[in-house]
Amino acid sequence: MQNKRSVCENCKRPTKVCYCPGLPKEKLSLKADLVIFQDPREDKQAFNSVRLLERSIENVTIFKGRVFFEQQFNNPVLLYPSKNASNTLPEHVGTIILIDATWKFAKNLYNKNPWLKNLPTVVLQPVHEPIYAALRKPPKEGLISTAEALILILEFIGDLDNSNSLRSALKYAVDAEPWQKEVYEKSNNDS
Ligand SMILES: [Zn+2]
Repeated sequence: MQNKRSVCENCKRPTKVCYCPGLPKEKLSLKADLVIFQDPREDKQAFNSVRLLERSIENVTIFKGRVFFEQQFNNPVLLYPSKNASNTLPEHVGTIILIDATWKFAKNLYNKNPWLKNLPTVVLQPVHEPIYAALRKPPKEGLISTAEALILILEFIGDLDNSNSLRSALKYAVDAEPWQKEVYEKSNNDS
């Protein structure tokens, strides 16, 4: 029997559900830089899509915390469903900014960092069936994982090679998971 605690060093998932073979062979260089503000609670999730992004993308910066200093970004756009959010992207996007948190905590983070409200903000309608919904049910219809939000925005800015690579990496990782659930349920019932 395989050791239950055997964990992949790279993706930190149990080796049975390691998704590394699905990651891009070389880290992707996105057309726009990616910045993610992550609620620390989100990083504790066994499966966090930002970890997958971190291992797949060259030009990504992740800030962990709840309150952040105001920063300057090159032609930024924040993906967040605020009241004033536009549903079209500015012509040139230099930096994509995402908030990684459950809906409630994303709202807290947005409100605790008022400077975020000054950034051009967009909300985009998903064009595909969510890949991730099977794994962690979104709290609201139409809400998607951070990785899927990025994939969507890359499609909108025409960075299609990278959006396709990320989509297949995410799909690989999600497809690996249900089996793991069964294995865990079984091992818990047996003990
Ligand atoms: Zn792995």
